[in-house]
Amino acid sequence: MKTAIVTGAAGFMGSHLVDKLVAEGYFVAVIDNLATGTWDNLKQHGPDQVMKLTWDITEYPTEDVLPLSAADVVIHLASAASPIHYRRLALETLRVNSIGTENALKLAKKYQARFVLGSTSEVYGDPQISPQVESYWGHVNPNGVRSCYDEGKRYGEAIAMEYHRLYGLDLRILRFFNCYGPRMQSEDGRVVPNFVRQALEGKALTVYGDGMQTRSFCYVSDEVRGIYEAATREGLSGEVFNIGNPEERTIMNFAEAVAKAGGVDLHTEFLPLPADDPTNRCPDISKAQRMLGWAPKVSLEEGLEKTFAYFRE
Ligand code: UDP
Repeated sequence: MKTAIVTGAAGFMGSHLVDKLVAEGYFVAVIDNLATGTWDNLKQHGPDQVMKLTWDITEYPTEDVLPLSAADVVIHLASAASPIHYRRLALETLRVNSIGTENALKLAKKYQARFVLGSTSEVYGDPQISPQVESYWGHVNPNGVRSCYDEGKRYGEAIAMEYHRLYGLDLRILRFFNCYGPRMQSEDGRVVPNFVRQALEGKALTVYGDGMQTRSFCYVSDEVRGIYEAATREGLSGEVFNIGNPEERTIMNFAEAVAKAGGVDLHTEFLPLPADDPTNRCPDISKAQRMLGWAPKVSLEEGLEKTFAYFRE
């Protein structure tokens, strides 16, 4: 049986990845400090499938904490990801993406396992090119209100690449664009749970700024398929991939799609744009298509329908 260690997998995206890994026959050790996740997301898995460790990866997990004799892959996802959460947990976010990333790298080195870094489109900052291709260096405010996340992830990429160069670690860096679906927390402040909750409660959808900023929304099952391909294919060491849906839309247009999916008339309330909010985001996924054989399949309509069904429960 293959073994994966996944940090941060009690959260939204990570728990879906664990579902996929278990379905593919993996035993999964999950390390999570429950700062933004919950074991409820993994209650469908028993101890012979998933080992659940409530542990902060900024402390190295010695053998008494993580009693595993072997591991094939370490997937490091631990970090707050919603702007509201990483502002509230700014220092924790910096630490988990720096010290936490090095500890996860040390685990991969110890087990001679493959390492998959969960990075982000935020490494591109407020991009000056569109779509964003992996070779683009980005346009990031180094000390603004989003930098705990953006620069934390950039440091994570830097140290992971050094472990690859120095120790020959089999590394894959994945830059996730906006992802959505069931198990997002209704109060996490991101646009998808906000709009869906507001539509269900018959409230106005809170559009920040003029709503002309763009994002590209990837349904979680597509995202997880991309991560799985990147984590399991041979011959990809040192490669960086954008994982996201290339269908770019304005937040205003997204509000219209949410209202339609929720079967409500669109009412909007315009609120100030948060500082350093990127004006646009759209992944160039040609590299992932070519090297992973991956592209999203789920339309926004279908994804929103499933997300509404989850939030209605
Ligand atoms: N946004 C919005 N209304 C909300 C929440 C977010 O208009 O209630 C906007 C936000 O300003 C940003 C986009 O939606 O331009 C996506 O925000 P989110 O927090 O989901 O993630 P980000 O892509 O900024 O990390």
